[in-house]
Amino acid sequence: MASAIRLQTKPQRLLDHTDSDIIDRYRDYLLEDPDRHLWLGKSILVDVDEVIRRRFVCDTRLCLRNTGTPKVKTRYSCCWDLEVQLLPTEIDAIEKHLDKVVEHHPALQGPIEKRGFWKYDAEWWKILQKKKNGSCIFLNSCDSLGQHACALHDTALREGLGLGEIKPLICRMFPLFILETEETHIITCYGPETHRVLFDDDYEEMRCLHDNRRATERIYIVMHETLETLVGKEGYRHLAKEAEKILARDDSNGHGG
Ligand code: SF4
Ligand code: SF4
Repeated sequence: MASAIRLQTKPQRLLDHTDSDIIDRYRDYLLEDPDRHLWLGKSILVDVDEVIRRRFVCDTRLCLRNTGTPKVKTRYSCCWDLEVQLLPTEIDAIEKHLDKVVEHHPALQGPIEKRGFWKYDAEWWKILQKKKNGSCIFLNSCDSLGQHACALHDTALREGLGLGEIKPLICRMFPLFILETEETHIITCYGPETHRVLFDDDYEEMRCLHDNRRATERIYIVMHETLETLVGKEGYRHLAKEAEKILARDDSNGHGG
């Protein structure tokens, strides 16, 4: 086991500061059963059910719909309901590629020119700007597919950029999150158990976080780039290797799902 694996510097700012007692109890629950947890180094605890066994896909048809009317939002959407805090470096990164973003998504030119792409929130954090309808300024409809696209994500794909070069970390994180205890960082995901740790009432509205036929791949694979940002390349290699063993064991025990 590589004990040098630790949480990378940038994600430290995402540490969640909810009630520490409930986080401690959740950590104890994970540690109680070897089947529920995986250590990465000495301080990172991976929630096996939520990060390895769970299947997930981000497909906006699960939360938004192109209706041809302003009534697009059908459920909770992280690109609509979340406020995205930005680091100065993230603002610079978006600014650097903004011409390309608008070139690929001309419909965003008007809103961005009118409102800018960031603003201050009530506590003077810099956050992503919203459109008039309440969605993130970078959420763009893609009519041919009946889906919506993050213009930053799409631009990264078209221009051959790494997502980390343009897309804010908070956006790349969802639905993963980190819980902090005195000595441990727990990597987990919004789920049937964990949303209670976060006191999050929106969970029932998040269709993509419930079993659905579009979600066919395990979350640690779908979100490998984000996990690499969190635990480094070596940490992710170790995680993926252990995940394969866990899933193979589940299969041989007849618990594969
Ligand atoms: S992660 Fe879920 S809520 Fe967010 S855009 Fe994707 S499908 Fe919608
Ligand atoms: S930047 Fe992209 S992923 Fe983030 S909230 Fe906006 S549309 Fe969604």
